Amino acid sequence: MHVTHDLHTHNLFSSCSYDPQATTRNCVRKAMELGHRVFGISNHLWDESVPGASQWYRGQTIGYGLELKANIPEDTGGMKVLFGTETEYCGMSDTLGMRAETARLFDYVLVPHTHTHMRGFVIDETQDVKDCRAELAASLARAYPALSEAAVRKMAGALKMEELLPLMSQPQVDYERYITGFLLESFWRLMHNPEFRRMAATVPTVIAHPFAPAEGGERYIRVVRNMDRELLRECCRTAADLGVAFDVNVWTFPCRDSRYQDDPMVEVMRTAKECGVRFVFGSDSHTVEGLEAIRQADAISEAVGIGEQDLADWVRY
Ligand SMILES: [Zn+2]
Ligand SMILES: [Zn+2]
Repeated sequence: MHVTHDLHTHNLFSSCSYDPQATTRNCVRKAMELGHRVFGISNHLWDESVPGASQWYRGQTIGYGLELKANIPEDTGGMKVLFGTETEYCGMSDTLGMRAETARLFDYVLVPHTHTHMRGFVIDETQDVKDCRAELAASLARAYPALSEAAVRKMAGALKMEELLPLMSQPQVDYERYITGFLLESFWRLMHNPEFRRMAATVPTVIAHPFAPAEGGERYIRVVRNMDRELLRECCRTAADLGVAFDVNVWTFPCRDSRYQDDPMVEVMRTAKECGVRFVFGSDSHTVEGLEAIRQADAISEAVGIGEQDLADWVRY
């Protein structure tokens, strides 16, 4: 299928976009050049009426996000521009970053459940890592008695998990298995979150990069491949029942060089299709040039077997 839409895009309104050219106007113009019929803008937002925003989300409020709307050019040459957002779902606390009522302000909402790089917010740290931090804080307190307890906790908390490894005699938890389990568990919790169910009944709702952990490389491939197939199927069936679409996110298909042969995400999406899930495609671009990545979507749609009839109604043409 020739994909002529892109529903997952970020621009300078997201804190993670560093391309000074990535204004709303430039992105819309690029989307027109790419021949899209539907173009969606989905910057990261956290609804300030939901308590618990992380430091990173605190400035990305709804009012701020809505300002972008005024920058959408009027003449888009017949291309439909949808005003969406990518909010957050924190599986560890079962917190959805947006109320269903707020979601009405948008044409559609992307809900990610796999931002596993946001440790201690989206996904809890494993117990061995927590123990290691506690020991480190105790050592720092002994070495620098003048430091306050809050300061040593902050220092011990600042290190990345990988940086703590030399201090851990042997990790007690198989991290890959932990992530694999989390993907299914967080998805399942999301499907049963009452606010999410209200959202799905209110506004077109899409799971952003479903079952795709933020970790890259070989680890990513193993994690996705090791997911329990029966649980995956149940998750997909529940999403289909709720009318929730999946974001076929080009960055989550690692086997580009082999034309997506043996790509673990292709298999996940095939399962979703068998369960009746509908799809939208997304580049997850954070730059103007990055929007070109959507050209990979045609090959991905072939590999999975996604045709026009499998797309969400609201992006069909
Ligand atoms: Zn995301
Ligand atoms: Zn994104």
